[in-house]
Amino acid sequence: MSSFAHPEHVQHYINGQFVESASGKRFENVNPFTNKVINTVAEGDKEEIDRAVKAAREAFDHGPWRTMSVNERLSYLYKIADLIDQAADEIAYLESLDTGLPIKQTQKQAARAAENFRFYAEMVKSRLHGEAYQKDNDFINYTIYKPVGVAGLITPWNAPFMLETWKVAPALATGNTCILKPAEWSPLTAHKLAEIVNEAGLPSGVFNVVHGFGETAGASLVAHPDVQLISFTGETVTGSEIIKNGADTLKRYSMELGGKSPIIVFEDADFERAVDACIFGIFSFNGERCTANSRLFVQSSIKEQFIDALLERLPHIVVGDPMDSNTEVGPLIHRVHQQRVLEYLKIAESEGAEVVSGHVPIAYRDGNFVPPTVLLNVTNEMRVAQEEIFGPVLAVMLFDTEEEAIRLANDVKYGLASYIWTNDIKRAHRVAQSIEAGMTWINSQNVRDLRIPFGGAKYSGIGREGGHYAFEFYTETQVIHVAIGDTPIPKFGKLKV
Ligand code: NAD
Repeated sequence: MSSFAHPEHVQHYINGQFVESASGKRFENVNPFTNKVINTVAEGDKEEIDRAVKAAREAFDHGPWRTMSVNERLSYLYKIADLIDQAADEIAYLESLDTGLPIKQTQKQAARAAENFRFYAEMVKSRLHGEAYQKDNDFINYTIYKPVGVAGLITPWNAPFMLETWKVAPALATGNTCILKPAEWSPLTAHKLAEIVNEAGLPSGVFNVVHGFGETAGASLVAHPDVQLISFTGETVTGSEIIKNGADTLKRYSMELGGKSPIIVFEDADFERAVDACIFGIFSFNGERCTANSRLFVQSSIKEQFIDALLERLPHIVVGDPMDSNTEVGPLIHRVHQQRVLEYLKIAESEGAEVVSGHVPIAYRDGNFVPPTVLLNVTNEMRVAQEEIFGPVLAVMLFDTEEEAIRLANDVKYGLASYIWTNDIKRAHRVAQSIEAGMTWINSQNVRDLRIPFGGAKYSGIGREGGHYAFEFYTETQVIHVAIGDTPIPKFGKLKV
């Protein structure tokens, strides 16, 4: 993998300019593979959020963004997509450098990010339309969809570029202006996105990026009265904090939160494919994946074969340099997060589970590595079966009957994803419909068509993004009611009593 330059110092992007924080404060951005400083980043606070919101508000109220023709607006989205494609290798490199995600995986994410812009440009053309209801020859009511205003987009550090574009594309396509507050542990590709938007020539203030910490920059964005929408992806606890902090300014929220998703493997499953999918689902993205299948429920009758197959593969999973195209699992995002995940391995032991780990080469001990790990003898009430670990750690549990599998799978506060493996078609649908989750995959690894809704049930989220479902969040529905006949109007005050 060839290397690419990155700025020595990352600045905010506000009103079409790359700028410093008023305070001059900066924070260090650290490489998860070496724990050496990559560069510094401007630390935004209330003042930068105020500047960005003012710019976005001005661009929304008086700029040409929402009043220009739809074709012209969407041409900017196609331009952004093309620029992402042209910079795809650089984006993948920066993302792997910043997050420790293996380069093979970030390359796919960069392609998907470009697709997000093209997809939403097409969706606005083909699916953003109103409806009309006629009442005899008296009235017509019709609906139109308008942009809501200034959108605050708050994103996490896992797969940051893809998740950022996943929000920015529908927000802009529908005519909103926005402020992106990327995660403090992964600023590089958000900066690259600002450079791309700048090069695409969007009107000033339409898209802004403010770097900084959640408790300061993020909280100021949430509390700002001129921000109408908050699309948030991150931890459940943060999501609930955001809703509390934004309560006084009555916002609209889209909440994509944490997960602890089950994979249920029945004895009649396609064995090899189920093993592959289970391993991919928990160890891809270094296990830092919201939809990771972190709770395996395997039918007791095949427990030995299935667990043996997992354990046989574990030491061969390639852990290493995220820039090496052979690497399958890289270092975790940050030392603090690595320690949190390692702490869960201790908790597992103290709860009575058996901890079986793969291999991290000695040469890579400077990085934030956690070896791919399988926890055996887990029971569903253990913390490691209930809490989101967000690392390469699979908790294995057993079940005997279909009813037991459903009961155990649902006995958790989260409800983001779920995976079912069986060749019994009736059972597959029966179980799928009984699982409390926003998304269920049957006999499939985690693949997603951009047209379908994405989101979670229970503590995993509120609302759905993706496809035309995102329009509900990013647009305001207005009803226009028009008389086409002369139906009598009550004549108050004209009656002589
Ligand atoms: P996090 O909640 O710590 O941070 C996410 C973002 O919120 C960051 O930009 C952070 O700066 C900001 N933030 C933190 N406190 C804030 C506050 N008080 N006000 C406003 N903003 C604040 O999450 P993370 O550790 O970056 O990401 C991992 C989490 O994200 C996991 O729980 C994972 O499951 C979840 N996630 C969910 C999805 C999904 O679609 N459901 C996708 C990816 C990640």
